[in-house]
Amino acid sequence: MTNNIHDLTRKTDDVVIVGAGLAGLFCALKLAPRPVTLISAAPLGEGASTAWAQGGIAAAVAEGDSAEAHAADTIAVGGGIVDEAIALGLACEARARIEDLLRYGVPFDRDLEGRLAVGREAAHSAKRIVHVRGDMAGQAIIAALIEAVRKTPSIRVIEGFVAEALLTEDNAVTGLQLRKADDPTARPLIIASRAIVLATGGIGHLYAVTTNPREASGLGLAIAARAGAVIADPEFVQFHPTAIMVGRDPAPLATEALRGEGATLIDDRGKRFMLPRHPLAELAPRDIVARGVFAEIAARRGAYLDARKALGARFAEKFPTVHASCLAAGLDPAKQPVPVAPAAHYHMGGIAVDARGRTSLGGLWAGGEVSSTGAHGANRLASNSLLEAVVYAARIAEDIAGQEIAAPARLPAALVVLCNSVMPVHAEKKLRAIMSAHVGVVRDGEALAGAVRAFAALEREAGSIALRNMATTALLVAASAWSRRESRGAHYRTDHPVEAPALAHRTMTTLAKAREVAAVLDILAPRSAQAMIA
Ligand SMILES: Cc1cc2nc3c(=O)[nH]c(=O)nc-3n(C[C@H](O)[C@H](O)[C@H](O)COP(=O)(O)OP(=O)(O)OC[C@H]3O[C@@H](n4cnc5c(N)ncnc54)[C@H](O)[C@@H]3O)c2cc1C
Repeated sequence: MTNNIHDLTRKTDDVVIVGAGLAGLFCALKLAPRPVTLISAAPLGEGASTAWAQGGIAAAVAEGDSAEAHAADTIAVGGGIVDEAIALGLACEARARIEDLLRYGVPFDRDLEGRLAVGREAAHSAKRIVHVRGDMAGQAIIAALIEAVRKTPSIRVIEGFVAEALLTEDNAVTGLQLRKADDPTARPLIIASRAIVLATGGIGHLYAVTTNPREASGLGLAIAARAGAVIADPEFVQFHPTAIMVGRDPAPLATEALRGEGATLIDDRGKRFMLPRHPLAELAPRDIVARGVFAEIAARRGAYLDARKALGARFAEKFPTVHASCLAAGLDPAKQPVPVAPAAHYHMGGIAVDARGRTSLGGLWAGGEVSSTGAHGANRLASNSLLEAVVYAARIAEDIAGQEIAAPARLPAALVVLCNSVMPVHAEKKLRAIMSAHVGVVRDGEALAGAVRAFAALEREAGSIALRNMATTALLVAASAWSRRESRGAHYRTDHPVEAPALAHRTMTTLAKAREVAAVLDILAPRSAQAMIA
């Protein structure tokens, strides 16, 4: 392991992996003994959504279940635009990847006969979520993989450095520009490589209310988009219906499994508000539950998760993580309903990749939440994201293993030495507020247009590269949400409340196209961008 600056600034024929969640760690392990440089913005184990996963991994490993049934459930919730072959491929590879994780030491729960224990989550037709000690799956996975990585001599780990730009030549990557996470005014460093894997996670932190760590602010997507990569489905953001509202940023999550165990959603008078909204009530697809919770809060009736009857005294034992979060805020979920709200949770969109994890740029792969494979369509089935991360990490490693990758002939020049990466607190807060208010659970054309103009102006003018990268991803999400004049899956527009059959396809876009949308909107109403961001 090294954080030595002199070791960093160099040409390398290492494969460079950015991100140390499930996708990055697993890919590095699968590539061993090939030399890999693994870069993480935060110390290993921190700043990764993986560590916070509570449910587990969807895998059709139980008797009577099948990959076909798993794929059918994935397709059913995806709003008609899931790539069916990709969904089936994921489901088919689940068992092998779970076995890999067991070999790396992940202690998945077993039943009395020693078989993998499986739980049920919303919109799954069978019990198929493999888990660890109730809601500890993420922590157990990350701990086991970090231990394996630390023991693998071919993996050079660099912690505390943020990737802020990709360097390219002739539509292929030549290197990465990095900056020390805790020294935003330091000069950027360059690492030259012709094989880079982005595994930087999601975009939740672009929103004011999110379950994601701070590092999930869309940087990987931004740097790929700025280098010209094709971006898929950025408008599709999943909001978790039950983030616990106790004034924390990010907001702690009350896992879906609680509703699977019978916890209900009630308003401040104790009325179950999901009953009239969907036949599956609290276990309806996430987008429908999120809109139900949103509507109750907007109508000032409040929304609460009530586990008193369903779990009561068993709460602490069954859901230790949620229990601890509630207790820390002075709430006892065994005895009191817990206030909840929808929070940005998962990004179905991302850097467009093919079935091997290749992006549209030569030498650039993307895996995990930063990528968009087509498996989730407009809405993700619960616990399919860890599965996708692990399956694609393995596929990327296999694809890279079959290739000769030469070190670049020279060290590429830094792209943006003049910028610093100091985050202006007020502007960041404003960006996140606009995302939640105008690009959130419920959207409409006019509000989206205002957001597009505001983000385009920031993306053009921000002096801080950190803010500019956030604005880049925000612009892509807002511009695609504005352009999709329908409601589909997690993308809901009050001005176009139903699906338009002609739009039953994925979005494939670029930063240049998003800027064009902004330019057209600017011509229509030139002054409103300043008004929104001021
Ligand atoms: C609270 C919560 C609960 C969840 N529960 C489940 C669940 O039960 N089942 C399920 O399937 N999914 C769940 N998800 C979603 C799932 O955890 C994520 O989709 C998945 O872990 C993503 O893995 P990843 O490796 O792509 O990214 P992450 O695990 O987020 O890792 C990203 C890594 O990239 C690093 N990074 C980011 N930007 C940079 C940069 N610019 N430079 C350097 N490093 C960078 C981060 O520090 C981190 O190391 C949950 C998510 C959350 C937030």
